[in-house]
Amino acid sequence: TQEQIVKQERLRALGMMAGGIAHDFNNALTMMLGYGELLHPWLEQNGSKREITYLDHIVSAAQDASHVVSRLREFYRPAEDNEIRLPVDLNEVVERVISLTSPKWKGKSRAAGVQIEVVSNLDKVPPVAGNAAELREVLTNLIFNAVDAMPQGGTITLSTTSDVDSAAVTITDTGIGMTPEERERCLEPFFTTKGEHGTGLGLSVVYGIVQRHKGAIEITSEKNAGTTFAIRFPATAEVEAAVKPQIARLDRTLR
Ligand code: ADP
Repeated sequence: TQEQIVKQERLRALGMMAGGIAHDFNNALTMMLGYGELLHPWLEQNGSKREITYLDHIVSAAQDASHVVSRLREFYRPAEDNEIRLPVDLNEVVERVISLTSPKWKGKSRAAGVQIEVVSNLDKVPPVAGNAAELREVLTNLIFNAVDAMPQGGTITLSTTSDVDSAAVTITDTGIGMTPEERERCLEPFFTTKGEHGTGLGLSVVYGIVQRHKGAIEITSEKNAGTTFAIRFPATAEVEAAVKPQIARLDRTLR
């Protein structure tokens, strides 16, 4: 629809802008980190304790900034033709991510009386052509957001489904939900409603990765009821077409 096209254009423009900023910032940060590294041993010899502490603060702030920059780059980085894409089983991704993220939602770390449960409902799905680590990052970010959206506890449901030419993974929470305006803007870099606790980059990373996997994101949300993110990827025949030449290439490389 017209509305979706406008949104895509907006995200593309933001992506290019973010990419330019990320590139320039990265150069500046590389200099700061590089000279910081040179200065450290020199200060150990000739400097005071206080000078070393100040330098450590500068370096650690630069490291934080460089983390932000690398997430921004994830958002705008276009897919490369020679990127290796292998068949990924979405069910395996879901299971790994549930166990990897459990410290964030399980048990003791949360206030008494607050319970978050993650349940999964996995169908047999065809493989997706892609990068398993990136797909795990997508689901990890979505789970973290779902946890943030449920300060009083609730349930996160992960499920996988498929039809003739696609495989999908869906995550639903019973949290605070979004207004239509928030839903419209949530994929934009730096859009956050979490004040200083948020960076507004989690969903931008999700968007970038899903784009590079030729997937689509569908968001439904209702204020004070909950949110669903459905992510659909091309599968079966398309995956084979995408994966086969790469397997041939890998074969040649290994030989
Ligand atoms: P951050 O988590 O740092 O704010 P994100 O890009 O991950 O950045 O999310 C952007 C915004 O989208 C959040 O601040 C929140 O307003 C909204 N959002 C994302 N996921 C959810 C969710 N599951 N429920 C309600 N709101 C959400």
